[in-house]
Amino acid sequence: MRYYSTRGGAGSFSAAEAIKLGLAPDGGLFVPAAAPAPLALDGLPGASYREIAAAVLQPFLPDFSPAEIEGAAFSAYSAARFDNPSVTPLHRLDDGLFFLELWHGPTCAFKDIALQLLPHLLRGAMKKTGERSDIVILAATSGDTGKAALEGFRDVPGTRILVFYPEQGVSEMQKRQMVTQEGANVGVAAVRGDFDDVQAGVKEIFNDGALARVLAERGFKFSSANSINWGRLIPQVVYYFSAYLELRRGGAVRPFEKVNFVVPTGNFGNILAGYYARRMGLPVQRLICASNANRVLTDFINTGIYDRNRPLVQTTSPSMDILISSNLERLLFEVTGHDAARVRSWMEQLRDRGRYRVDPATARAVGELFWADCAGDDKAGRAIRGTYREHGYLIDPHTAVGRVVYEKYRAATGDRTKTVIVSTASPFKFNASVARALLDGDRPGGQDEFTLLRLLSEVTGIKIPPALDGLAEKPVLHDAVVNREQMKQKVLDFLGVK
Ligand SMILES: *Cc1c(COP(=O)(O)O)cnc(C)c1O
Repeated sequence: MRYYSTRGGAGSFSAAEAIKLGLAPDGGLFVPAAAPAPLALDGLPGASYREIAAAVLQPFLPDFSPAEIEGAAFSAYSAARFDNPSVTPLHRLDDGLFFLELWHGPTCAFKDIALQLLPHLLRGAMKKTGERSDIVILAATSGDTGKAALEGFRDVPGTRILVFYPEQGVSEMQKRQMVTQEGANVGVAAVRGDFDDVQAGVKEIFNDGALARVLAERGFKFSSANSINWGRLIPQVVYYFSAYLELRRGGAVRPFEKVNFVVPTGNFGNILAGYYARRMGLPVQRLICASNANRVLTDFINTGIYDRNRPLVQTTSPSMDILISSNLERLLFEVTGHDAARVRSWMEQLRDRGRYRVDPATARAVGELFWADCAGDDKAGRAIRGTYREHGYLIDPHTAVGRVVYEKYRAATGDRTKTVIVSTASPFKFNASVARALLDGDRPGGQDEFTLLRLLSEVTGIKIPPALDGLAEKPVLHDAVVNREQMKQKVLDFLGVK
């Protein structure tokens, strides 16, 4: 299978090239020439997560051997990395509703699923394309991605990773997760400034041709682990299959019975993986797109108009505080039958005017696959409290947005199809908001997140995830704070280049 750009730039690319490049040369995103053939579910009933991963990934990665893919999946999803033997276990709320827990990895959020595997794919891709340099991953992070990338790339041979975060711009828990990061090939530095400063600094380093030449001579090459890399999307297709197979095994669905998935959405990566799973024959009825107060996708799916001209709202589900959902570009390419000219024109309108409207046929095609609505912080908070009080099950603020939107979907459509809500973060990772919701608004004043972690565990009787427990006692290994102008020097120091 070859890959093409959504913007129609010349040429096709191998999977290895697509993963190594990340972004297509014409600024578009890589998409497969065709969706893989349907996967025979009957061949997989007793398969482990890692075996399902190998079966799902293989058709997307024809230039990787089965042994390479199995090896990658087995290292990525080992018991040392995921604290649950199912990797992504299902929690049954009642006969019709299930939560797919994607947060049993090292950083307690769903980005681990992709970022544990990506380093292996990237290394394979470098080898296949004859790249002999060490890969240097540079990342600017506002929280979750940086930590997940650090954990994914730590001690992976042939790679280095350096993460910059805004000194005042991340939560206590997130900062602590990063500054205590272990691994021989990792670096972390705070930058005096906000997230935009950090991101601009990293972009400048990426675009510095002279620096790239100096580093190339020393055997280093920059790469990126950001969420538009195709290598981050395909690992996410796997858990849609594993969820369905677990429902089948438990007798919750009949063979070929369709199910809905509700996905708390920001950059549209997670839910797009569900779309590809459906294209590969998974019996999916509806993909329900759940947004927080930043409801660009809700509006788009319901009106055909994408409009980012609105203020970004800070919510209790910060990983979904996004106004440009990059991966939507891939969906538009697919539903228009690979019409790159139309996609390019929409993306240019988005860049120039912050807005575009798709034609009625495209809007209809999107509406047939997806249903969308949104939930504000208040409603999400009430869903956390309600789900806990009624079922003794604790969910995080992102997942709570999915829970609220699912209730809206049921009320609006009357659809009783069995449904899986994709749970994207551990409630302990966003403990301040969860504690506030649970304790009915009276968060005991002045307590830090570590005290709250313990309080939450005491109140609910649920164990703190190992990855967060003990974080307060871990030694700080990365205390560098730099100005934006010093970021380039930090890169050179980190790589030992004079
Ligand atoms: C990144 C993230 C999301 C959004 O996922 P997308 O793939 O960007 O739509 C939702 N919840 C959590 C906890 C996340 O970290």
